[in-house]
Amino acid sequence: MRIVSGIQPTSQLHIGNYLGAIKQWIPLQENNECVFFIADLHAITTPYDPKNLQNAIKETVIAYISAGLNPEKAIIFVQSQIKEHTELGWLLNTICPIGELERMTQYKDKSKKFKANINAGLLDYPVLQTADVLLYKGQAVPVGKDQEQHIELMRTLSRKFNQKFGQTFSEPASMILKEGSKIMSLTDPKKKMSKSDDPKSCIFLFDEPEVITKKILSAQTDSGKDVIYNVTKKPGISNLLTIYSLLTGKTTQQLEDEFRDKGYGDFKKSLALVVVNYLEPFRRKQKELATREVYIQEILKQGHSRALTIAQETIKEVKEKMGLV
Ligand code: ADP
Repeated sequence: MRIVSGIQPTSQLHIGNYLGAIKQWIPLQENNECVFFIADLHAITTPYDPKNLQNAIKETVIAYISAGLNPEKAIIFVQSQIKEHTELGWLLNTICPIGELERMTQYKDKSKKFKANINAGLLDYPVLQTADVLLYKGQAVPVGKDQEQHIELMRTLSRKFNQKFGQTFSEPASMILKEGSKIMSLTDPKKKMSKSDDPKSCIFLFDEPEVITKKILSAQTDSGKDVIYNVTKKPGISNLLTIYSLLTGKTTQQLEDEFRDKGYGDFKKSLALVVVNYLEPFRRKQKELATREVYIQEILKQGHSRALTIAQETIKEVKEKMGLV
């Protein structure tokens, strides 16, 4: 199966990106053709500093590999280096109703958050995302829950394209995990953990142990003192229980039993240790890769060449079908 997904190089990756997306990419690499790109064209739709972008791209590649992606298997490359993404994006714009874009939750949220910069790219974002997947004839897209609506649009647009111009794309299926697809902010457990929020609200994959411990110990919890999983009544503790469960393989029921007569403090201390230990090999790998500039560039070069072959083939077929060649 062809699998496609990507992450924006907007800042460091957090544990939500890992548990919702990257963690499910790792086993998929074994028996599928995986295309995992760095979504720099998406990152420029919100305010950013051009001077930092190349470094952020490099750090995202390092994060991919430190978290377990295997460049020998997966195709890893930078989105903007393959101009066919924007080309297909434009072609798909012509079959995408504006109403579909205006109702997108992420567009509405980002328009509120970045009031001074509601650009057309922010609205058009899901069409480019559709192009990212259809360009590689992606059949499945492993992502977090916040992307559900966008994948629905991919399905609509691929159907529309096929109806108008002849069978070309299969409808990509979303791969959204039951647990972990929406890790919440540590400082406000009613909101999702997001890179563009306060750093205290996120556990970054490469945070130092003291920083992780401090963030977890000061994470917002709920009234009462019992460690119980109940998303409505105890959103803070439930979010921490989810993280604990996903990193250890213990069920939330087992964890409730384990912490039955202990308070939030003991539970948080134990979780901090779990997170620190889990991320230890990631930190080690990241430090090693940070000095291997040539190796990182080589991975991107190889990935680019593998991706380009597929992309050019699809664009040729699409342009022929649309009467452009
Ligand atoms: P962010 O929203 O932090 O800027 P991206 O938009 O680049 O991150 O998302 C990268 C991937 O991580 C997507 O598949 C997205 O669904 C997933 N993701 C983002 N935030 C979370 C979260 N809090 N919990 C689970 N998955 C998430």
